[in-house]
Amino acid sequence: MIDLITSFLDDNHTRWTFVNKDDIIFRDEFTAKCQMNYCGRYNKSWTCPPAIGNIDSIKKKCLHHSQAILFSMIFPLEDPYDVEGMDFGRNTIMQITYDLFDMVNKSGMHTAFLAAGSCSLCEKCTYPNFPCRHPEKAMISMEALGIDVAVLARNSGLKYYNGVNTVTYFAMIFFDEV
Ligand code: SF4
Repeated sequence: MIDLITSFLDDNHTRWTFVNKDDIIFRDEFTAKCQMNYCGRYNKSWTCPPAIGNIDSIKKKCLHHSQAILFSMIFPLEDPYDVEGMDFGRNTIMQITYDLFDMVNKSGMHTAFLAAGSCSLCEKCTYPNFPCRHPEKAMISMEALGIDVAVLARNSGLKYYNGVNTVTYFAMIFFDEV
């Protein structure tokens, strides 16, 4: 099963690495930034605080799995303000993440995913008036849990910063060896 995941990540041109779970640092100051609405998504999505509820129980669900892989993709930007380039990059890694989800889901594997940013499966999130349209597939971001992605990437052997006029996005899968 691990081969299935790693082959998929290779085929989709991601950079990936197995993660030592001790390298996943959760920082209260990052979740505090989330609550200060630094990214503009606080209280705007079923996959962001406060809708996600108790962060500790989500962390436990992820860390309960025996294995974790961090994967990343690097995208060129025209300049540091190239929002379209950033959107393209995030949509690309998220499409790959959703495809990976579909593949492992079909195989019956129990997994947990953490996304690159807030859920963007729907053009407009139904939060807070109607239930989530895709609760099985909507993913919480690493940032929403307060994960220090820069430290995790560095300790896992992936580069967090890949040069001027680039953006690097990360996502994660937790799973069990079968
Ligand atoms: S799947 Fe749609 S409704 Fe559910 S969190 Fe994502 S954007 Fe919102």
